Amino acid sequence: MRALETILVGKGLVDPAAVDLIIDTYENKVGPRNGAQVVARAWTEADFAQALRDDATTAIESMGFAGRQAEHMEVLWNTPDTHNMVVCTLCSCYPWAVLGLPPVWYKSAPYRSRAVSEPRKVLSEFGVTLPESTKVKVWDSTAEVRYLVIPVRPEGTEGWSAEALADLVTRDSMIGTGLAKEPVT
Ligand code: FE
Repeated sequence: MRALETILVGKGLVDPAAVDLIIDTYENKVGPRNGAQVVARAWTEADFAQALRDDATTAIESMGFAGRQAEHMEVLWNTPDTHNMVVCTLCSCYPWAVLGLPPVWYKSAPYRSRAVSEPRKVLSEFGVTLPESTKVKVWDSTAEVRYLVIPVRPEGTEGWSAEALADLVTRDSMIGTGLAKEPVT
């Protein structure tokens, strides 16, 4: 990447200040909290949940989260019957606008291959053990489509505000390699 940047800057095709600004934005300003707000709203507002089902890109954009790597979003709803998890087998496609920069493991060759060949084993390494009756579906992210997993809403959170619920939503739970946190009682 460094070499590529050097060539592009040398040719006057990119401005290094612009590159730094983009990196700073996604490293420090955009993070998984955007996605957590989307999830909490999906849990608490039936209309918004429906809007996500109809057109996730537009619904997410309506919250101000749009742009790079979120041009075509789809949401995957985890249920007790079906657990969805996301990988990019080819490279590292990831919805930056809602989740920030991808974690290092997401880009690693072992995750990219093993998420497909042995998803339950990978999940167990993330500390997630699902009942045998829960079907695991693995989605391959591409340049065309980016996924956001809506984790199962934890029990015991009835009546919670979207703001409080968002604190239970972890980055990994929106990739499908984790579950939402249990409320502390
Ligand atoms: Fe990719």
